[in-house]
Amino acid sequence: MATLEEELRQRARDVRPGEPLWKHVSMRIGGPADFLVIPRSVEELRDVAAFLFARGVPFVTLGQGSNVLVADAGVRGVVIKVGKGVDRVRFAGAQVAVQAGHGLPRLAQAAARRGLAGLEFAAGIPASVGGAVVMNAGAHGHAMSEVVERVRVVTPRGEEVLAAAELGYAYRTSVLQHRPAVVLEADLSLIPAPAAEVQRRMDAWLAQRSVTQPIGPPSSGCVFRNPEGDHAGRLIDAAGAKGLAVGDAVVSEIHANYIVNRHRATAAQVLALIEQVRERVRRYAGVELELEIKLLGEF
Ligand SMILES: Cc1cc2nc3c(=O)[nH]c(=O)nc-3n(C[C@H](O)[C@H](O)[C@H](O)COP(=O)(O)OP(=O)(O)OC[C@H]3O[C@@H](n4cnc5c(N)ncnc54)[C@H](O)[C@@H]3O)c2cc1C
Repeated sequence: MATLEEELRQRARDVRPGEPLWKHVSMRIGGPADFLVIPRSVEELRDVAAFLFARGVPFVTLGQGSNVLVADAGVRGVVIKVGKGVDRVRFAGAQVAVQAGHGLPRLAQAAARRGLAGLEFAAGIPASVGGAVVMNAGAHGHAMSEVVERVRVVTPRGEEVLAAAELGYAYRTSVLQHRPAVVLEADLSLIPAPAAEVQRRMDAWLAQRSVTQPIGPPSSGCVFRNPEGDHAGRLIDAAGAKGLAVGDAVVSEIHANYIVNRHRATAAQVLALIEQVRERVRRYAGVELELEIKLLGEF
């Protein structure tokens, strides 16, 4: 009988046993995956996902890894990284069909050049289209839910097309966060507008981000979801947690909802810091902060 590695290699060219995951996530933290699979086409992605569902092999899907914290012990089972190779895009008027591994900022720039509005908010969000669709990524009062028409996914039942209304979109949430599904492709609907106007709006928002968010040190963006009617960053700052550190994990001085890895932070240090921040905010405001980032692997 073929081993799991052999089965994976029959379906994808790039299979890496024991691959360290810190290399594949923005926080630069995390131990090895039993197997990291990097599909080089949407067909490889579909075949690997369908095989893993059919066999009941545990797996997680990763895009650019910019909203995750990977455990120091890594991830048992398979991690599929969706990026280069799964990144075709087709524009037809104001409709865009884009594969899950395409970079979101690059897509926003391409749309702007074509005089298509709707993705200006996304130009500064480090994301794959798949990760952004799942997270309902957003900024500047806009989010993916405004442009997603439908998505093509693989589930344990096979390939399915889900319309936007079936995705349960709300603030940084979709049903795809709670259901076993791998996003293959998304259809987006944009709005024709003068290219210069779209570009101007995008540039203004990018400039704003560059002064309000830490760009240099590795992070996973906002750690906590904003509680109803408030901002997690404001609460953390007011609770006196800015600059708090555990080892090399530090609450950013620039944006209090970011935890940055100033050198060689571990996932255990980040998690301990998360608990300290939560405790401070609980005591200061009686608010229970919920995680926005996803914890992957054995914690
Ligand atoms: C500096 C910085 C700034 C940021 N700014 C913002 C911001 O302004 N707004 C915002 O919303 N977010 C922001 N983020 C967070 C992050 O960019 C978004 O959450 C983004 O949508 C994550 O995309 P990703 O491809 O990196 O997904 P990942 O982090 O790789 O994955 C996120 C989740 O989606 C799942 N997933 C990924 N791809 C697929 C797929 N193809 N099929 C099924 N599931 C999948 C993963 O399993 C995981 O649960 C920021 C992060 C950083 C580091």
